[in-house]
Amino acid sequence: MSITGIKGMNDILPGEVETWQQLENQARAIFSPFGFHEIRLPVLEKTELFCRSIGETTDIVEKEMYTFDDKGGTSMTLRPEGTAPVMRAFIEHKLYAKDPVSKLYYIGPMFRHERPQKGRYRQFHQIGAEVIGIDDPKIDAQVLAMLSHFFETAKIPDVELQINSLGCPQCRPGYRESLITFLDQRIDSLCQDCKRRYTTNPLRVLDCKAAGCKEATGEAPAMLDNLCEGCEAHFAKVKDYLDDLSVSYRVNNRMVRGLDYYTKTTFEMVTGSLGAQNAVAAGGRYDGLIKEIGGPELPGIGFAIGLERLVLMLGEETAAAERPELFIATLGEKATQAGFTLLTKLQRHGIHAEMEYTGKSLKAQLRRADKLQAKRVLILGEDELERGVGQLRYMDESRQQEADLKGLDDRLISEIHGA
Ligand code: ATP
Ligand code: MG
Repeated sequence: MSITGIKGMNDILPGEVETWQQLENQARAIFSPFGFHEIRLPVLEKTELFCRSIGETTDIVEKEMYTFDDKGGTSMTLRPEGTAPVMRAFIEHKLYAKDPVSKLYYIGPMFRHERPQKGRYRQFHQIGAEVIGIDDPKIDAQVLAMLSHFFETAKIPDVELQINSLGCPQCRPGYRESLITFLDQRIDSLCQDCKRRYTTNPLRVLDCKAAGCKEATGEAPAMLDNLCEGCEAHFAKVKDYLDDLSVSYRVNNRMVRGLDYYTKTTFEMVTGSLGAQNAVAAGGRYDGLIKEIGGPELPGIGFAIGLERLVLMLGEETAAAERPELFIATLGEKATQAGFTLLTKLQRHGIHAEMEYTGKSLKAQLRRADKLQAKRVLILGEDELERGVGQLRYMDESRQQEADLKGLDDRLISEIHGA
């Protein structure tokens, strides 16, 4: 029996991978002028890191992590998200000592043991960005402007930026208490999960998809109406700056995030086209996180974009495979040898050239050139080789010319590079 891959973990094949590369390149090109640098980190971290940062009572830590003991008995976890590892590395390498502001981005796989379905996988990929060291609301607006710009550039249809504020350690505990009091009176309408968790993590009830919970929390107090002065002023400024920068958004006062470390500004890029998997990017401010995991008291803000969902939204409009500039068809040993040398020279010059490696008939070789949609075909026969010429066909123009083989390599290189 043949061996298959793991459920919920996808192979990304040629034909699809071009879309991925395009999105990754766009992200790099967009983030760099905003001052971001890439950071690459291991996929495994000590389990403790995620428990302390994401929070013990979140879905991710309670039920979605791939956790195991390694041979030495240390509990390890395949990273379910990128922010905590970036902060771990930031602290470990004392990046703050070199520069009080760090702007970092990452691209890579994340792992969560969820039920696989459209837009939800067990290995998925995120492009994320983090700014550490600035609490000014200008940076919140700038991060959102950059995120929106990425979505526009990538031509992702039908997305809406939703923003909210989740307050800070000064105002959230009071709000939490009033939410618990509110939920206490409606406990019978809540689902089993929410009955259990409404005292440990009441904000999650607001995010519950169960109909009963949705109805019961319809009139629930909102964090936005209970912000302290500082958080309220901060959020007002974020909105002002977004308006100045012409970034469109909608305030959604019921948005809560599934990770405990968020404070103040939180946001999601939401789409109507992926059913229940409607968040294509999400993030927020995490001013207490770095201190919580043993670093200095520095604020941070960031987001993560889910790549699989973007690729789904871009649909079949995948980039066409690149056409070879030249296909070399040969007849006879000598011609094949000469063709092979020319092929390699062109490839070393960055030109996409192809030929058949095993002795096929000329007809079969031309069929292959056709299939690859080569722009030019060079036919080299034994007799022609003797005369020092070949037949060069320009496929799009249906024209053919006899080409002098001497210096043909250089002429092709300048013709193709000059095009
Ligand atoms: P959801 O509410 O859909 O579970 P989330 O709040 O758990 O999302 P985040 O932790 O904020 O998601 O991750 C940011 C982005 O990563 C999401 O907006 C989504 O695009 C993507 N993402 C999260 N989990 C998965 C998954 N299991 N498969 C594919 N993409 C995912
Ligand atoms: Mg989730």
